[in-house]
Amino acid sequence: MTRDKKLIVGNWKMNLNTHEASLYLHKLSGLVKTHRDVEVVLAPTILALQSLSLQIDRRQFKLAVQNFYWRDHGAYTGEVSAPQLRGVVEYALVGHSERRHIFGETDKDIRNKVQAAIRNDIQPILCIGETTTERVNNETIDTINDQLIGGLTNVTSEELKRITIAYEPVWAIGTGNNAVPADVVKAVKAIRSQIKHLYGVAAADDVRVLYGGSVKADSAADYLAIDGIDGLLVGGASLDAHVFEEIINKAHKGSKPDIKSRGGK
Ligand code: PEP
Repeated sequence: MTRDKKLIVGNWKMNLNTHEASLYLHKLSGLVKTHRDVEVVLAPTILALQSLSLQIDRRQFKLAVQNFYWRDHGAYTGEVSAPQLRGVVEYALVGHSERRHIFGETDKDIRNKVQAAIRNDIQPILCIGETTTERVNNETIDTINDQLIGGLTNVTSEELKRITIAYEPVWAIGTGNNAVPADVVKAVKAIRSQIKHLYGVAAADDVRVLYGGSVKADSAADYLAIDGIDGLLVGGASLDAHVFEEIINKAHKGSKPDIKSRGGK
C-alpha cells in the first residue's frame, strides 16, 4: 500500500446488468488515461465481476466487490465468500453505509468481513461515517472512533497496511448534499488521530483515507486537495463515463497522461 497514488473508486451499486456493465467498461477504457499516480477501482454488481475481470486491463482498472459474506464456505444460501472472489477482485468495500443502514450490518459483521478479506488477499476499503442525527448531536468524532475500533478489532499493524479507510458521511451519500471540505478536514484528522492511538504515528501517517459522498466532477479537486485525503469513493457520478473520467483526471497531478491506454485486452 502506498500513499503516493490517489485512489479513485467507482461504486456502481445495484446498477447495470452484465451486458451494460461490459459496454460501460468498454466506453470507460477508451476514455480513461492511465496515470502512474492514480489507481482506479471499479465496483460493479457482483454478477459482472467474473466477466469484467476477463475484459479489464488491470494496468488501467482494478476491481472491487461491493459486498460478500465473511465465512469462507458452507451452507449459506445466496452468499458469496472471499475465497470465491480471490483472484477476481483486488479490493472489497466493507461497511458501506447502505450495508450498515439498509441491511443492518453490525460492527461485528464488518470486522469479520475485514478479517475475511485480508485472509484471502483482498484489500478492504472500510467505510465509516456519521448519520444526520449523529452529526446534529455533535457525535461525528465519536462515531468515527467507534466504527474504526469496531471494524479494526483484531487487525494487526501489518494487516492495517492493506486497509483503506473511506470517510463517507451517511447524510452525504446519494443525496447531492456533499460535505464541505472543512468537515472532511476534521474527519480525516480524527481518523488519523484514532489510528495513531491504536497503531502509532507511522501507521497514522501511512493509512490511506478517502472521502465519499455526492462527489461530482466540480467538487472532486477540492477534496483531493485536502491534506491527508488520498482519493475518492464515487457512487452516482461514476456511472457517467465522462464525469468519472473528469474526476480521475483531477486526481492526476500533471496535465499530461503517462501512458495512453487503448482500452480492454
Ligand atoms: C457511495 O456509494 O459510496 C457514494 C459515495 O455514493 P454517491 O457518490 O452517489 O453519494
